[in-house]
Amino acid sequence: MSSPASTLAVPSYLNADNLGPWGIYLQQVDRVIPYLGSLSRWADTLKRPKRALIVDVPIHLDNGTVAHFEGYRVQHNTSRGPGKGGVRFHQDVTLSEVMALSAWMSIKNAAVNVPYGGAKGGIRVDPRTLSMGELERITRRYTSEIGIIIGPTKDIPAPDVNTNAQIMAWMMDTYSMNEGATATGVVTGKPVDLGGSLGRQEATGRGVFTVGCEAAQRIGMDVSKARVAVQGFGNVGGIAGKLFAEAGARVVAVQDHGGTIFNGAGFDVPALLKHVAAHGSVAGFAGGEVIANENFWDVDCEILIPAALEGQLTAARANRVKAKLVIEGANGPTTPEADDILQERGVLVLPDVIANAGGVTVSYFEWVQDFSSFFWTEEEINNRLVRIMKEAFAAIWQVGQDKKVSLRTATFIMACTRILHARELRGLYP
Ligand code: NAD
Repeated sequence: MSSPASTLAVPSYLNADNLGPWGIYLQQVDRVIPYLGSLSRWADTLKRPKRALIVDVPIHLDNGTVAHFEGYRVQHNTSRGPGKGGVRFHQDVTLSEVMALSAWMSIKNAAVNVPYGGAKGGIRVDPRTLSMGELERITRRYTSEIGIIIGPTKDIPAPDVNTNAQIMAWMMDTYSMNEGATATGVVTGKPVDLGGSLGRQEATGRGVFTVGCEAAQRIGMDVSKARVAVQGFGNVGGIAGKLFAEAGARVVAVQDHGGTIFNGAGFDVPALLKHVAAHGSVAGFAGGEVIANENFWDVDCEILIPAALEGQLTAARANRVKAKLVIEGANGPTTPEADDILQERGVLVLPDVIANAGGVTVSYFEWVQDFSSFFWTEEEINNRLVRIMKEAFAAIWQVGQDKKVSLRTATFIMACTRILHARELRGLYP
């Protein structure tokens, strides 16, 4: 139960009425508090980040001037282990967004039961405007600035939107230079030649596919006959699309930042992936017709996979969705109103906090391998990933059935219970 003092002390940026991504997260937490029993007295722990760092990131640009960027690292909760979560480079990154993403990491890590808390970071920059040298300098300066709170047993960053294995290599090197010792375990998603894990690149998409198939089976949908629409054809959406196509599904619509394409017979997905690798976008792909971006949302399909950014599936769009199953590859793609509309319309939503947890699961494997300096085969990694995802899905499905709640609320119930149980066992210091 909140004490009057803590209620009075809530600053405006922590308020649920402030409906950015953080406000959406707070509403999600409020929905599960009635299910937490005696642990609900610790619920305020979930409603404020443990630690939020804002850093100035000045770099020399190639033209000789100095530019300043704003960077963030937020550790939402560390009750179950060190902070863990990606780093995003995007011009729209805000503190509220990073706070929400860090909180969703706490939930996700607890949902698949990996021994981490939740964290997230970002820099407010459009990396497309930077040269390779500038990108390296901004990454290294940012890493050095957040170096006071990250570390292999403190908080372990990973790739997210617009960051990749090369950026993780620079982060690992910068942290190691400052420490005077090579610390491969400080980040995950590194190149395989530098302590990275086989299977990491594909892990999030593979997780989306795995739990997507589990959910489809529960609602009597035959994946091999399904039509799939994917928004965002990068690391998550591209791999998920490829795996669904390999399972016999038809990927009929794809949207990315460059536009939307449609092919009712199903795209040649390997060819589309090659096109994206060569041109940076699905735009200009010859194997489909261009449709208006807004028409993506009412394409005839059985499965819809939003795998781009937050807030894409709005209430207006939710009313038009034809799919019976929405698998959230992206973090926070569905607004709360849209969530309610989809539920009322009988559309099953597989929430981000379980659907895209495959990435952090293999990040956990990478971290374990780095600590032991003993590396597993890709087959071992994929088998363990699939087992963890299926077990987590089955447990969440059961909570959903038992308590008659959505899978999002079921995942939050399971995860918040684990986090607050750890909180209670640890007690408060001092
Ligand atoms: P990415 O940079 O590889 O791909 C992002 C995709 O989204 C690209 O195809 C891009 O063109 C598209 N996109 C960007 N803006 C868009 C817009 N306005 N409209 C339509 N499409 C747009 O990023 P990613 O790693 O695939 O991440 C995608 C989402 O998945 C993010 O929400 C991220 O937080 C989440 N996620 C990623 C991982 C991971 O392991 N990479 C893990 C968990 C969650």
